[in-house]
Amino acid sequence: MRSSFKLGRILGIEIRIHISWLLIFAFLTWSLAAGYFPSLLPNSPTIEYWILGAVSSIALFASVLAHEIGHSIVARRNGIPVKDITLFIFGGASNITREAESAGAEFRMAFTGPLVSFILGGLFFAIYFLAGGSGSKTAFNAVMVYLGQINLILGVFNLLPGFPLDGGRVFRSIIWKINHDAMKATKIAATTGQVIAYLFIFGGIAMAFVIGISGLWLAFIGWFLASAASASLQQSVLLETLKGVKVREIAGSAIETGAPSLTIEQALSIMLESKQRALPVMNNGRMLGLVSMTDIKRTARDNWPVETVDQIMTPATSLKIVAPEEDLTKALELMQSEGYNQLPVVSGGQLRGLISRSDLLNYIQLKHEVAR
Ligand SMILES: [Zn+2]
Repeated sequence: MRSSFKLGRILGIEIRIHISWLLIFAFLTWSLAAGYFPSLLPNSPTIEYWILGAVSSIALFASVLAHEIGHSIVARRNGIPVKDITLFIFGGASNITREAESAGAEFRMAFTGPLVSFILGGLFFAIYFLAGGSGSKTAFNAVMVYLGQINLILGVFNLLPGFPLDGGRVFRSIIWKINHDAMKATKIAATTGQVIAYLFIFGGIAMAFVIGISGLWLAFIGWFLASAASASLQQSVLLETLKGVKVREIAGSAIETGAPSLTIEQALSIMLESKQRALPVMNNGRMLGLVSMTDIKRTARDNWPVETVDQIMTPATSLKIVAPEEDLTKALELMQSEGYNQLPVVSGGQLRGLISRSDLLNYIQLKHEVAR
């Protein structure tokens, strides 16, 4: 996620905060300091409400983080690397690089997050009752009961059975287990996700008339869920179209390559002429790396006539490649998870061509036109 900064690492996973999180942090602290704590602890100084508000917001942030770490640990245990966890306005998101390979793994991965929230909720409530429950009107207990409630709400909310919520993933894994068709399961869960999202939007707007502006918050969450659900629906349609088709069926065969001593300017003119978005850099038949439009755009224009491609290319050792006999779905997933626009097609150590996002899109468009 862009516009985010790094906070640190937990268990080797990078923790990031998106700037939109600062907004929700300020809003939450304010609403707790102005409403929740004054009603629970009347006659306290205003500064105490603000301190409690900020402490509770940070503790909520830690709770959401624990929920995400729950997902991430199970993902890694199932062999799926986790790039980072980002906290943003609507909560947290684990950047899990691949989809689970089995319905069981998907179920465990999705369910662990809400489970962590339920355990945390139970713990905070246990502390609250041990400290005297509602009979003890202390600041400490006001914070504990808040954290207990919010974690339980988080657990329940996330278990709603619509994609992309955790409950949608749990739901998807169950359908997947029954019908053995991952993509069909995604479609059903994403469609349910859209229905739930629209219920949130209309419910939120209706509530706004009754309880005021805070109802719009629900509508706002609904809008976010609707767009995420339609993105996963689109993704599953894409994957379905590409399933079973081999890379060699659409990868362009003859491609231009360049020597490492080419200047950026020379490379660019070859790329424009051959309509390639990337140029493999070759030396004695061996590929040293790949220079892409993105690499070129990153370099200052003044350096184009002097700097050579080997200075700015992505070296072969860190390139992601596909084989001609691999599925197009594999190529698409690689491009999406690594953020590449094209991949070299390599077999037996030899470069066979390039496959780009636009190759995939053209193929999908063609296939849909034929279907019509
Ligand atoms: Zn979750």
